[in-house]
Amino acid sequence: MTSKTAAPESCHHRLVKTRIIATMGPACDDAQTIRQLILEGVDIFRLNFAHGSHEWLKDVLQRIRTVSDELKTPVGVLGDLSGPKIRLGRIAGDELTCSKGQTIRFVLSRESDETYDLTCTYKKLIDDVKPGDRILLADGTVGLLVQSKSDDGQSVECVVAEPGIIRSKQGVNLPGVTLSTPCITQKDEVDLSWALEHQLDFIGLSFVRSADDIKQLKSMIDQHCSNTQPVVVAKIEKTEAIADLEGILAVTDAVMVARGDLGVEAEISRVPILQKEIIRRCNQERIPVITATQMLDSMTTNDLPTRAEVSDVANAVIDGTDAVMLSGETAIGSHPVACVRMMQKIVYESDPLVSGRGVEASHTQESRRANPITEAVSLGATVVANHLDADLIVVATDSGRTALALSGQRSRVPVLAVAHRQDIVRRLCLYWGVTSIHSKLVRQSADALLQFVVQWGLDSHVLKSGQKIVVVGHTNWLGGSHNLLMVHIVP
Ligand code: PEP
Repeated sequence: MTSKTAAPESCHHRLVKTRIIATMGPACDDAQTIRQLILEGVDIFRLNFAHGSHEWLKDVLQRIRTVSDELKTPVGVLGDLSGPKIRLGRIAGDELTCSKGQTIRFVLSRESDETYDLTCTYKKLIDDVKPGDRILLADGTVGLLVQSKSDDGQSVECVVAEPGIIRSKQGVNLPGVTLSTPCITQKDEVDLSWALEHQLDFIGLSFVRSADDIKQLKSMIDQHCSNTQPVVVAKIEKTEAIADLEGILAVTDAVMVARGDLGVEAEISRVPILQKEIIRRCNQERIPVITATQMLDSMTTNDLPTRAEVSDVANAVIDGTDAVMLSGETAIGSHPVACVRMMQKIVYESDPLVSGRGVEASHTQESRRANPITEAVSLGATVVANHLDADLIVVATDSGRTALALSGQRSRVPVLAVAHRQDIVRRLCLYWGVTSIHSKLVRQSADALLQFVVQWGLDSHVLKSGQKIVVVGHTNWLGGSHNLLMVHIVP
């Protein structure tokens, strides 16, 4: 099987298929590394509000935007809100061994020096749990079983069911426990204001439980933004979110399969199946989907990934994910650039298995995403491009919707989307198989667009004389749905 996309070595102005997201952190926050990461194939940087001050985030954001402008390569920025993430308080000596059968207490505040008294950032933990519930610590590696609550409601007694070592500030998960806190915390509200003020392209929300959480986030965004709104990404990592997946898909713009916490909140053995099901439904609904966490985890310290990790990335691509994400590997790892290079090589090898494997759009939400004319013309463009063995499908896109429909076709022939708004160019960085560029000319005429694209293609060595381009446009160039297909041969 062959792919017509440029090899990963020529990343600058490469025509993309599966997208790559890198989490920003101290290991990659200097301009030189940001530049290398973009050249190796990063499409979107994730700023994780769980770590780093607004001051640091502001500096990093500025650097990403400067380097992206210098390279003339659009890069999106995703701000990831922490949601009701619960963390352990400080543990004396920073580390504690929990042996099987050991009694451990969660207390409201640490007044005693009892080694086995723990505190956490969620003050209502003691109210919300009941005997028989499980409390998981340290990414689910240590399990406690709730035994009883004290009469004064100041503590809860647990017994260690799965032993291990815990450290200060590590995550706490309460699988199956309904939290009485809202999904969007006070910290999230402050971080959201910052994200909107700094015009981030994507906003992720952690620990989403239902469609209402996404609706609330969208209404908060509505209150702040008059025109450009960021793409909202629902992070699926709780069993409640799995239960309300259809409701969430009806309101969210994008989805992340956040396998780290999902593997703790749900049975870890279910994660691959849940990943496949979430990706399948997102593909049908034309909702971009990201697969995240531990994709090349061992490369945080090692030069090379394990075979299992390489297979994991390839399988996410074959499942139909739009993007694969690196977390600690780039944020705090020893080889951030090598990780992205490796990711790019794996997706380059795997992309041909997805190319040409379009998924029919679901008709349940036609009005919102899959306009039937746009879908039909996109399908037509893909068939014509394949039939002619064309080299590029070009679309002029206002809101990005037609580019999304073309992305859903998973065409073997790469798509070039030309948008007249820079914010749309950046949000297209999440769509599978869509390379995006900016030009105001798209609003003029099909001829002006063609001339511009041919020149761009020749200048960036993406096109050569004699190659075929399929153009998706519309007769009323200033509006209306895309209803026009045109074939052009590069002079
Ligand atoms: C996850 O849990 O998989 C995830 C992506 O969330 P975070 O990295 O914010 O913990």
